[in-house]
Amino acid sequence: MEKIYFLIQKFIFKIIFFGFVSVSAQTSDLFLGASPIDYLTGRAGDKMISFQANGRTHLFRPDAKQAFDKMVEDYEKFRKEHETKNKQKLPPIQPISAFRSYFDQKSIWDSKYRGKRKIAKSIKGKSPEEKVKLILEYSSAPGTSRHHWGTDIDINALDNSYFEENGEGKILYKWLQENAEKYGFCQPYSPYHERNNQGYFQENWHWSFAPISQKLVREWEKLYKEKGKSLLGKIEGIDAISNETPLIYVTSVNKKCDEIEKNWNTVLDTPQKYN
Ligand SMILES: [Zn+2]
Repeated sequence: MEKIYFLIQKFIFKIIFFGFVSVSAQTSDLFLGASPIDYLTGRAGDKMISFQANGRTHLFRPDAKQAFDKMVEDYEKFRKEHETKNKQKLPPIQPISAFRSYFDQKSIWDSKYRGKRKIAKSIKGKSPEEKVKLILEYSSAPGTSRHHWGTDIDINALDNSYFEENGEGKILYKWLQENAEKYGFCQPYSPYHERNNQGYFQENWHWSFAPISQKLVREWEKLYKEKGKSLLGKIEGIDAISNETPLIYVTSVNKKCDEIEKNWNTVLDTPQKYN
């Protein structure tokens, strides 16, 4: 009798325990068990997985990495076929930068502000407001970067022309434009005029795993409305950044990213989507 009692107790414990685990897995999966503020501001690097590319170690979210690998694998098939058929070499997809921590981004930002790191236009003799504006053409302020989320990746060349008319990556880019969405990827910084001339300039090299990143955009927006510029921490030029600026830059992205996210039904179960 006592034994049966024990077994029933064990059974009930199991139901409660696994019920709890599955509920918490659902609610915390977006932040991979980190707190929302840590995750969204680039302090959850320990939740990412690492991989090697171009002689460097990169970090990426596990689900985004799985989708990215599948995309790379299929592009490789296309590349080989294309090369055989057209006797023309194509570049592989080469990761340059994936996850970046708050401190990685702070070091980029501060050194650009101090003029120690090159940016497209010189910031010499500019006012703090002008400097901030110039850096923001292509770089995010720490605490506001999509690279903090492990869903976004820069590939091949940080140069739009590489992916255009006479560029080495022209056919790769065309393939991405036609196929990336099947793997959940979008180009968030599409042509500037398509985004009401707001936010970062066009970046043909930056791709994002939309089923997760667009959810994170909304979470970031919510958090920013609560905490304001404190999310950016102590950085150079902070007083020259208006309260609205980070919001505008983070939310001014390609509408296609939202479409991909909306039509992606099995976010926590991505492999089924493209198998
Ligand atoms: Zn980028």
